[in-house]
Amino acid sequence: MRHQGGLGRPLHFRELDPSGGGGGGAREAQPLLRVQDLRVSFHGEAGAVQAVDGVSFELAAGGALGIVGESGSGKSVTALSILGLTRNAPGARVSGRVELEGRELLGMPEPGLRAIRGNDVAMVFQDPLSSLHPLYRVGAQIVEAIRAHRPVPKARARARAIELLDLVGIPEPARRVDAYPHEISGGQRQRAMIAMALANEPRLLLADEPTTALDVTVQAQILALLARLRRELSMALVFVTHDLGVVAEVA
Ligand code: ADP
Ligand code: MG
Repeated sequence: MRHQGGLGRPLHFRELDPSGGGGGGAREAQPLLRVQDLRVSFHGEAGAVQAVDGVSFELAAGGALGIVGESGSGKSVTALSILGLTRNAPGARVSGRVELEGRELLGMPEPGLRAIRGNDVAMVFQDPLSSLHPLYRVGAQIVEAIRAHRPVPKARARARAIELLDLVGIPEPARRVDAYPHEISGGQRQRAMIAMALANEPRLLLADEPTTALDVTVQAQILALLARLRRELSMALVFVTHDLGVVAEVA
């Protein structure tokens, strides 16, 4: 699929593996995610920016989709809009349809969306600062992500946080659970953010340039991790990158 992004820059979509993920069962008639003619513009004093201009794609349960485009082509705005995270921005206009298992999200009232975010659909944000709070321990943040959606006692949520840190390959998870973000490496922070996104076993993970800040060795590890998680958790993945080499790796 091909889409002409804002400012005439092309944005490319590549369906990597529509049936993937080892989910097992018969192929569902209804896609997990359907985005139809998504348009997002921002209107301000300096004029209007057409950030996303008619994007459409579908993703099956357990499948993966790569979104590739250069900086400023509307990749992040596409991913953020799926979760309703652009519609309240100043001057934002959002139109089209975003359906998660048939439920329309663009017009959904905020409480409904809050129940979906971090639960059915999780996001690894491009900006690490918007995910991990520097003043709270990593484990406490994962515990909070779990307890925001499930009435789990703290001790059980903490045990789950340790399991998740282990799942994403953080060594000595029982010790690292009490670390502050600045006490672990950039690669481990990225893993911790993925662990937090996975806390409630989302059916869909939106990963916005999750490896951009990392050196190539760590980048390869994170890509392998996402592939493994997709298989083990039957999780669908939307992978955003400006790097064709990286998307080929995911494929
Ligand atoms: P990328 O493909 O690099 O992720 P983005 O989706 O972040 O690109 O941005 C697409 C365009 O939308 C850019 O021109 C950006 O400046 C603009 N943009 C993004 N968010 C906003 C906002 N909240 N207000 C105004 N313009 C925005
Ligand atoms: Mg971006």
